[in-house]
Amino acid sequence: MAEQASPAKAPEPQGEAGYISPYPYVERLQEKMDERLAKKVPVKGRFCGFCYGRIRAEAETCPYCAHAIASAGTVDEVPQEVLRAYLVKQKTEARWVHLGAFSGLIVAMFLFLYLVVWGPGLLGHPAVGFAVLIGGGYVLAQLFGPLLAGQVGYRKGARKRDELWAAYLAKRDRAIDD
Ligand SMILES: [Zn+2]
Repeated sequence: MAEQASPAKAPEPQGEAGYISPYPYVERLQEKMDERLAKKVPVKGRFCGFCYGRIRAEAETCPYCAHAIASAGTVDEVPQEVLRAYLVKQKTEARWVHLGAFSGLIVAMFLFLYLVVWGPGLLGHPAVGFAVLIGGGYVLAQLFGPLLAGQVGYRKGARKRDELWAAYLAKRDRAIDD
């Protein structure tokens, strides 16, 4: 995804699914955190002390949040609370995709019933109905799921994630001040 220079001043919906995260590095980290949540990558490692992106041993600045490693410090594991924010995004999006796909199947089912009961001539043939049920079900599930509901889920999920991250940042800053 292209980086947005000044997301706050965006005049119209931009970014993925019309939502621009106020935390571009969080957006960039989602995929990495998804891998971490799926345990596709080692749990332990060297992570930026500000955003918890995985960094190379020789890195002087974080490739995600651009903080200097010398000031941000490093941790050897992503905090559970941070992972949870990314998980919320993942799950919210998945829930919407499933809900949309399910709605698509329901629509195909009604089309099937309609054709079988009221379809004139050849359209009323059960074979046509089944073709609509199977083929239409697939197409409508794809359309309503990933394409339509997925957009809504993405926006809602990304917003929730960003709110959780904002809350986490505020809490962490308070802990440092104390
Ligand atoms: Zn960072």
